[in-house]
Amino acid sequence: MSGLPYGMAPYPLALEPQLHRRVWGGEWLKEFHGGGADLPEHGPEGEPVGESWLADGASVVRNGAYAGRSVGELAAQLGAELVGTVPHERYGPRMPLLAKLLDAATALSVQVHPDDTYALSEERASGHLGKSEAWYVLSAEPGASVLWGFRQRTTGDVVRGAVAGGTLPELMQQVQVRPGSVVMNPAGTVHAVGAGIRLYEIQQASDLTYRLYDHGRVGADGQPRQLHLDKSLAVADLSGVPFEQRPARPLEGGWERLVQRPEFVLDRAQLSAGSVAAGSVTSESLQLITLIGGEAVLEPSEGAAHRWDALHLSPGSTVLLPAGLARVTAQGGARAGVSGPKAAQRLTQGDEESGGGYVLRGDGEILRSSVPPPTHHVREASETEAARGPHSDQADLRERDQARGGRR
Ligand SMILES: [Zn+2]
Repeated sequence: MSGLPYGMAPYPLALEPQLHRRVWGGEWLKEFHGGGADLPEHGPEGEPVGESWLADGASVVRNGAYAGRSVGELAAQLGAELVGTVPHERYGPRMPLLAKLLDAATALSVQVHPDDTYALSEERASGHLGKSEAWYVLSAEPGASVLWGFRQRTTGDVVRGAVAGGTLPELMQQVQVRPGSVVMNPAGTVHAVGAGIRLYEIQQASDLTYRLYDHGRVGADGQPRQLHLDKSLAVADLSGVPFEQRPARPLEGGWERLVQRPEFVLDRAQLSAGSVAAGSVTSESLQLITLIGGEAVLEPSEGAAHRWDALHLSPGSTVLLPAGLARVTAQGGARAGVSGPKAAQRLTQGDEESGGGYVLRGDGEILRSSVPPPTHHVREASETEAARGPHSDQADLRERDQARGGRR
């Protein structure tokens, strides 16, 4: 079994953003990251920066004993101590989530991602999982919209005809977005970010993207980017599910839940001067914390099992809270997490025995993501997606509430 080397106490990992050039990108992300001159950049020379990868397997730790190591290396070494027992059981010792910022100066290609079942059979050689993803819109020009699913049930032949004729967007639902809009793209949902939208994206860690349509555009090399029509149609949901914007659900500790999916959850806290958001890491999953705007300080709560140095967050700062923070250290005495004040233990649901408590103070907007435990009926999201349609998150939530004896 993997485990922390003796004497190596878990601590929040501050991650270095990685900038990715994209043909549809813009100038904003470098500014957002404070100039970005010394941040690593990837992708074709000459293209603008479209994405900032905040947390994935290639992310490099900036602070503490693991400084300079990648999250992927640490996941391989530490296993569930880093990623948590739930993703470890599902995916093994690898980073399960990928968090990004996107700056779409122009529209992205129309694309679709496979689910885990397809990825593990048809794309086994790639080593990638399927991909469900969710967008949280940070800013949008007036009238900006995304393309999401089809207006009505359609067929592969109709889609092929529309791609050939350059009219695919006309078959799709055009959804206007504004700051704070949440868009969930379960695996199989055909989607595209429109021009003038900046967003945070949380997704399963996977690079499997099938492009259906690229607005007739060419890349920096003057060539059109490759389309993957056969694979797209093998995984696309053609059923015409209507788009739905779901309201946020209040949680304890100053958070609200924006997205609840089997693959990940996404929470938001909005701090105003002097207010505090409190949370707790459990042994089930790592948590990713990203400051979207303003300023904040992240520090251990009074009852936390591990003491660690407070981290000052600026916009774009992303911290990985290892699942091991919830555990009492081998040499650290018994149940440190339960000895603290009751208030510190009861900050969020599900942390009765946990010492992984933390607080965020400041004046800013914070996003938090993690991998949830399986719902009452143990099943793979990918197997049930087609049967239940993409908007099953509320059903999952109800089942989970019932599984917990209706505590909420
Ligand atoms: Zn996508």
